[in-house]
Amino acid sequence: MPSEIDWIEKAASVRLPARHLVGGDWVDPLADDTFDVISPRDGALLKRVPHGDAHDVDRAVASARAAFNDRRWSGMRPAARGAVLRRWAELVQEHAEDLALTISLEMGKPVREAKNVELRAVANCLRWYGEIADKRPDESPAAGDDVLALITREPAGVVAAVVPWNFPLTMTAWKLGPSLVAGNSVVLKPAEQTPFSALKLAELGLEAGLPAGVLNVVPGRGDVVGQALGRHMDVDVVTFTGSPAVGRAFLRYSGESNGKRVWPELGGKSASVILPGADIEKAARASAAGSFYNQGQMCSASSRVVVHRDIADEVLHFARLQAREMAPADPLLHDAPSGALVSEQHLQRVLGYVRTAVEEGAELLEGSTGRHSVDGHPNGSYVAPTVLGGVKPGMTIEQEEVFGPVLSVITVDSEEEAIRVANGTQYGLAASVWTRDLSAATRVSRRMQAGIVWVNCFEEGDMTVPFGGVKGSGFGRDKSAHAIDKFTDLKTIWMEVEP
Ligand code: NDP
Repeated sequence: MPSEIDWIEKAASVRLPARHLVGGDWVDPLADDTFDVISPRDGALLKRVPHGDAHDVDRAVASARAAFNDRRWSGMRPAARGAVLRRWAELVQEHAEDLALTISLEMGKPVREAKNVELRAVANCLRWYGEIADKRPDESPAAGDDVLALITREPAGVVAAVVPWNFPLTMTAWKLGPSLVAGNSVVLKPAEQTPFSALKLAELGLEAGLPAGVLNVVPGRGDVVGQALGRHMDVDVVTFTGSPAVGRAFLRYSGESNGKRVWPELGGKSASVILPGADIEKAARASAAGSFYNQGQMCSASSRVVVHRDIADEVLHFARLQAREMAPADPLLHDAPSGALVSEQHLQRVLGYVRTAVEEGAELLEGSTGRHSVDGHPNGSYVAPTVLGGVKPGMTIEQEEVFGPVLSVITVDSEEEAIRVANGTQYGLAASVWTRDLSAATRVSRRMQAGIVWVNCFEEGDMTVPFGGVKGSGFGRDKSAHAIDKFTDLKTIWMEVEP
């Protein structure tokens, strides 16, 4: 039995790269300005990171464009590009401990989950796109004997990837895998909270064989670096995961610049519809865990349970048990069931939602309106998993994305009412349906206004299926072969053939 890693000891010497990665080199930003990256685990400063600005973006886009134009990557055979991505996946696995520790320090998730869930997903994603690289044929329609018609997919050019902090490397891999395998060059802007893990992932990409300039990383503020990318006249595609407000800002930037394609994958307010006859313990526990996992900082979090009145008490019982079992602890402990929220500012926002819910009439069944204390870390950003009963459709907590470990339980009297409540927000990312009745499962899942519907499970799926939503959740789709299409242009070649 290998001895357990002492993550706390390792944390003292973790490397935190903070320069920008442009043209295959570590470079200093042009502006003389920094921002503080604070670990939510204990409120301590991890490092000061140099801010990028619009000039840094120009430099990174120029590097990406040069790499694209001279075809050092876009002109490589797809199989060769695939081999680089597969090697990258191997390197991610080899460095999984260091990457997991970096993520955990940056944004507070349990290091065990960063390693076993997030890094596994990253390696899996890169490997999957590496494997599919040369397995997507172009088309040659039957146009007649005197013609050779070809429909090909060409890489779009320069892609800007702007990503959040909640699954910092999974979201990044979901953007980089399909855009790079298609032959594009990329400029990545990580979230301010998670620059180090992104820089390390890109460094491993170079080691795996990505040619210089194909992947560039510019840390900095969203309204500076993100906006400069969104408005850049030489960026062809933006792929974004984050809040609806910023997703819409990117659509605006595009309209006011070069009309670049924007793929927004935005928030959610996913409903878990539990019908009589379901496996109630499984449904309640999975829905609650799906609301608390990653400290509730998931766009697909099942933040609303919509349950038939006949089984509501039983569902609440198991949801409350689940909440107690997922109390936060130091994320560097092996057995921490949950970790810290990303920041003190975010903690205040989440607790504000809980207080508003109570003011509006919800019943606080588990959790608290105040911070959760974790031994030894009085300045850490911890919130206990919270269960709110008596939530009514239309309450603030029922409508808005909290992005914290807060579950709202809404009681209904019929399947029809459940569908109406589940669909009654601006969002449409995911939903789940819990029932043993095949007809009810089919009826309800067909009527869910959501990009993803799980039946008798939650958050399942692999790289073969798309992830993304409808309505206010945006229309970007990550994962699967469909994601590659977002970063390509269709080209028609029509050739006359001499008889
Ligand atoms: P944001 O949408 O603000 O941030 C996501 C990314 O966009 C970050 O890289 C951010 O940079 C950048 N960004 C921020 N403002 C701009 C701008 N004006 N122009 C261009 N880029 C910008 O999400 P937050 O991280 O602040 O979280 C706020 C809320 O968004 C959450 O509470 C949640 O509701 C939702 N969210 C949803 C996610 C999802 O998975 N769908 C993921 C993360 C958040 P910077 O880091 O510098 O702000």
